[in-house]
Amino acid sequence: MSSCIFCKILAGEIPAAKIYEDDVVLAFLDIGPISDGHTLMMPRQHIETLHDCPSDILGQICSRLGKIAGAVAKAMNSDGYNVLCNNGGAAGQVVEHLHFHIIPRKTGDKLFHHWPSYKYRQGQTEDIVTSIKKNL
Ligand code: AMP
Ligand code: ZN
Repeated sequence: MSSCIFCKILAGEIPAAKIYEDDVVLAFLDIGPISDGHTLMMPRQHIETLHDCPSDILGQICSRLGKIAGAVAKAMNSDGYNVLCNNGGAAGQVVEHLHFHIIPRKTGDKLFHHWPSYKYRQGQTEDIVTSIKKNL
């Protein structure tokens, strides 16, 4: 896709700090990290979202994700890491080319400190489960 910034990276038209690449994926450092080693991993194919991704490609991405995440975490001496995939503008997706953030974490770093959890009201769980199952 000619206007996609990540396709431009894949085409070698703009530079990136590459970590790993093969015929399916490219992993590279995020240009605006929220922790040292913050990495992005994307398929070579221009696919916008997780649910648009054919299962064979998704399987190939995931089969590499653990290895890359483990290497990033070890190299950064992190105490843990998050794997994040934003889908849709409302969820914070800015670049419309499927990608997974690998975010190394340190104990007490307070990233994602605010997790606004709440409780379902009575009966709501059943309604939501039914609705999701209908869409499977
Ligand atoms: P998202 O909000 O999930 O779409 O994340 C897009 C990410 O891409 C952001 O964290 C950006 O910092 C990152 N990004 C945008 N342009 C580049 C680039 N040229 N090289 C590396 N990372 C980039
Ligand atoms: Zn693209």
